[in-house]
Amino acid sequence: LKTETISPPRTWAEINLSALKHNLSFVRQHSEQQVMAVLKAGAYGHGIEQIAKALDSEHLAYFGVASVIEARKLKNAKIQTPIYLLGPTFPEERQEIVEQRWVASISTLEEAQHFNSLNRGCEKLVVHITFDTGMGRGGFLPSALHSAIDQIQALPNLHLAGIGSHLPSADEDREFTLRQFSQFESAVSNCKLEYLHLSNSAGLLDYQSKVTNLVRPGLMLYGISPIARYQELLQPVMQLKSRVSLVRTLPAGHGISYGRETILKQDTRVATIGAGYGDGLPRALSGNNAEVLIRGKRCPLLGRVTMDQIMVDVSKLPVCEPGDEVELFGKQILVSEIAKKARMIPWEVLTGITPRVTRIYQ
Ligand code: PLP
Repeated sequence: LKTETISPPRTWAEINLSALKHNLSFVRQHSEQQVMAVLKAGAYGHGIEQIAKALDSEHLAYFGVASVIEARKLKNAKIQTPIYLLGPTFPEERQEIVEQRWVASISTLEEAQHFNSLNRGCEKLVVHITFDTGMGRGGFLPSALHSAIDQIQALPNLHLAGIGSHLPSADEDREFTLRQFSQFESAVSNCKLEYLHLSNSAGLLDYQSKVTNLVRPGLMLYGISPIARYQELLQPVMQLKSRVSLVRTLPAGHGISYGRETILKQDTRVATIGAGYGDGLPRALSGNNAEVLIRGKRCPLLGRVTMDQIMVDVSKLPVCEPGDEVELFGKQILVSEIAKKARMIPWEVLTGITPRVTRIYQ
């Protein structure tokens, strides 16, 4: 890494695109289904355009995004992979969706009829149906599914290409998730559609299906497993790094950071580091035994995370100097560890890394 490429040299995220490819091959090996790469929320904070470009030649079925705004970013980046809108769309967005041939996931007959009327005179518009097997966020309920399929298939300007559902607790509740799988499978097994899909990362890691043929991994593509025992098979894509800006010895009795919750028990070498919650480092790490990595060693966080800086105890390091690189999370300190200590989830920490953090693609 050339320091000249970072301006200013403060806090940055190194994004390892070979790790991304490794994780995609693992998804393919493990599930043997087609893949929709979930790129919403700026590709989980990794940068939507760059991640899409890196995956565009991988013959993926779709890139999954949350909104029309994200779909536009992919269009402007000249991405060729079909774009799938994971959530419901607003009526005023639908003309653009039809023109751009983005794939909408339909939750109501009104949406389907609206798309059908907007698409008059053109080639059929590809849509999928969302089936609510328990997420409670969108989709047709089981009692309405078959009639919805019939009615949508009867609309002349739409092509129903798939049915998808979502797993709210694949990493938490096996019994419920197995019930969702069997409900999904029995409801759709006779549908002759191109795509039947249900699994997010936890679903594809821990469950098998003879009926589905498409998986929708997000988190695991970025190298983080929602289920700990699979973590060693994945490679974290993002390393969040910063630099030591100052090293001082502070006397016993001195307070550290806002609220002075930490009072030094003994004379301590304290390093100040140029990263804080303004970069997305969770403030909730304060007082929760968080650590950072400097010169290969874990150093404890002292006091509260501030907006732009944190302080850590470097007394155990033989040497620590201003300019030293700091790993806030990455390979040795996983984002999952940071999330747990902050009582957050890894998805939340990754998507919370703010725009002022320079992303460096390697
Ligand atoms: N499918 C849908 C509908 C989602 O909302 C998400 C993300 O929340 C995913 C797939 C990917 O989930 P994960 O990041 O757990 O793999």
